[in-house]
Amino acid sequence: MEHIVIIGNGISGVTTARHIRKLSDKKITIISAETDHFFSRTALMYIYMGHMKYEHTKPYEDYFWKKNNIELKRAFVEKVNHEQKELLFADGETMAYDKLVLAVGSKSNKFGWPGQDLDGVQGLYNFQDLEQLEKNAPNSKVCKRAVIVGGGLIGIELAEMLHTRNIPVTFLVRESSFWDGVLPEGESKMLNRHIKNHHIDLRLGMNLKEILADENGKARAVVIPETGEEIACDLVGLTAGVSPNVDFLKESGIELGRGIKVNPFLETNIKDIYAIGDCAEQHEGINGRRPIEAVWYTGRMMGEALAQTICGNRSEYKPGHWFNSAKFFDIEYQTYGWVFAKPRENEMHFHWKHDDDTKCITICTEASSGKFLGINTFGIRMRHEVFDRWLTEERSTDYVMQHLKNANFDPEFFKKVEPSILAAYNNQTVNA
Ligand SMILES: Cc1cc2nc3c(=O)[nH]c(=O)nc-3n(C[C@H](O)[C@H](O)[C@H](O)COP(=O)(O)OP(=O)(O)OC[C@H]3O[C@@H](n4cnc5c(N)ncnc54)[C@H](O)[C@@H]3O)c2cc1C
Repeated sequence: MEHIVIIGNGISGVTTARHIRKLSDKKITIISAETDHFFSRTALMYIYMGHMKYEHTKPYEDYFWKKNNIELKRAFVEKVNHEQKELLFADGETMAYDKLVLAVGSKSNKFGWPGQDLDGVQGLYNFQDLEQLEKNAPNSKVCKRAVIVGGGLIGIELAEMLHTRNIPVTFLVRESSFWDGVLPEGESKMLNRHIKNHHIDLRLGMNLKEILADENGKARAVVIPETGEEIACDLVGLTAGVSPNVDFLKESGIELGRGIKVNPFLETNIKDIYAIGDCAEQHEGINGRRPIEAVWYTGRMMGEALAQTICGNRSEYKPGHWFNSAKFFDIEYQTYGWVFAKPRENEMHFHWKHDDDTKCITICTEASSGKFLGINTFGIRMRHEVFDRWLTEERSTDYVMQHLKNANFDPEFFKKVEPSILAAYNNQTVNA
């Protein structure tokens, strides 16, 4: 019987396994060095914050795997030998495969900062990082101050986590405004204020020069080059992005860029080896999307497509319209379609912000045609399926504005803000 081996028990690897099982009785093995069972990485923060126990983050009961005849192996794969179709584990054991799925995820970026490997310095990606965080920052007595380096989605999650344990946080953000490489100015500036309102010591336009050690080799302070300041701390959180976890594949003959290079069928350059999820890099982004998409739902979609291919129905990964969501302390963020930090050629932005400074909307329109290209919303929950349909139907922004209430989750609340949004939009149109 054909043996499908999947390295990685995250959302993408597990989705592939589940769908192969639905479609066939092939032998399936999932390997992971991280945990015995699949858990929701996006819920890591809630474990630290006490909202959930680790057990609650497992989408499937432990008996699920045996019942579905999916074998689990806890081990680190050190090498892939594609000529022999064999894996070599760190303990010297080997395993043969017929088809191999690389679903190996990401790792936290480190940029060669002096002191980056000291005790007390860590990223926030895997379960071991969470255990480390419990050691480094259990409370404000052990951790009198934390410094977070890197202002993205994971950095702000870490700030919120530490804040719930009353640990003072200094947040070093290289950009002159939070996440302004991704978010338009009005949104980014609103988040600067929101972060500061939570008593986070947000330092915009500041980098990390080095991390200093105490006599036991533990981090004791960071140095900021812009000011020469030395900030005493017990934890340094490195959250300057993630990158594909592919170091162990460097000598494998599998084509690598930043990630594992794949075609739209998620096939690598080597027959019977595939890559999906955070670690996969398309030769060219599909429909304007980035070649590497490190988000949860795309891993699931790639897993579903690949299961079809492996079971004989060769299928492309077709992700549809881009969307994403996140949370910045109390503010929920959603994005549908494309809204770039600055309008590109032949694009214009409409921006509206509520007086309470926690809600805003930015809409991107194709200037020449009036076509709706995308929307960012903060603090106002919208319906995914409605925006997905409007993008497919290539509606105009005028149409979207007229029907905006249909896309909202909370009609009572929306009644209150809609007049203000429409007035701003009509005013902008008159002034254009
Ligand atoms: C704190 C945090 C919050 C996030 N929040 C969101 C969110 O709100 N929304 C969202 O869309 N996305 C979010 N993400 C991103 C999302 O979690 C990832 O995109 C997704 O989990 C990636 O899934 P994956 O299956 O590709 O890889 P992973 O989940 O990383 O799984 C890969 C697995 O492979 C194992 N592995 C790697 N190499 C080897 C090897 N050589 N041998 C054995 N095992 C190996 C790893 O240990 C790991 O267990 C968040 C990520 C983090 C870290």
